[in-house]
Amino acid sequence: MSLAENIQKVKVEIAAAAREVGRVPEEITLVAATKTQSDETIRAAIAAGITACGENRVQEMTAHLDADAYVGVQLHFIGHLQTNKVNKVVGRVDLIESVDSLRLLEAIEKQAAKLDLVQDILIEVNVGGEESKSGVRADQVETLARKALELPHVRLRGLMAIPPVAGEKGNRGFFREMYQLYVDIKQKMVDNETDINCLSMGMSADYADAVREGATLVRVGTALFGPRPVQAPVD
Ligand SMILES: *Cc1c(COP(=O)(O)O)cnc(C)c1O
Repeated sequence: MSLAENIQKVKVEIAAAAREVGRVPEEITLVAATKTQSDETIRAAIAAGITACGENRVQEMTAHLDADAYVGVQLHFIGHLQTNKVNKVVGRVDLIESVDSLRLLEAIEKQAAKLDLVQDILIEVNVGGEESKSGVRADQVETLARKALELPHVRLRGLMAIPPVAGEKGNRGFFREMYQLYVDIKQKMVDNETDINCLSMGMSADYADAVREGATLVRVGTALFGPRPVQAPVD
């Protein structure tokens, strides 16, 4: 199938999953996870109806930005972000989805203040409690969220999760847990409730289940672009 057909198929499945649970398809944004893709492929995806791209490597993203590959779409940073690279990301993306420590949050605040802008962020939650994954524990989310709300150059928009690789039972249980956490945080931060409306979860293998459980952003790579070449695990 062509890229355009894949995009169409994923969109149709998102819409079907949404309707199944009484949601409106427009509530959900398909974020194309564009790691390892060329400027050309990114432009083709945008021409075929992609409205948001997610990048997880600073260097790759910078090269695509320099080539004006993301014109007309939202750009999200979805990978692990080192504090020494925040100056390459803050103010250049619409949303940093992967804030996983107080140290990173404070580094983002500092850079955003310097640029005199407000950076939208999500807190990344390690919902499966896996040691190898980044993200804060579920019981640490509230503390980090309260801290984010104190910072004038950061706007907390919600939560993001990368659950464990789905086993036989899939990730629905984790997605449900994330949705509860999201609703809970929204309620606790009631003064800022209007800003918290993003729940990012679900990838190629399980985006439909994530939508059924309340995702507003799904990050999909392989199902759109096909398998990726193996990458070195550094950035
Ligand atoms: C690559 C990536 C995805 C998409 O993964 P696929 O399984 O290819 O859909 C989603 N989220 C993050 C953070 C990623 O790095």
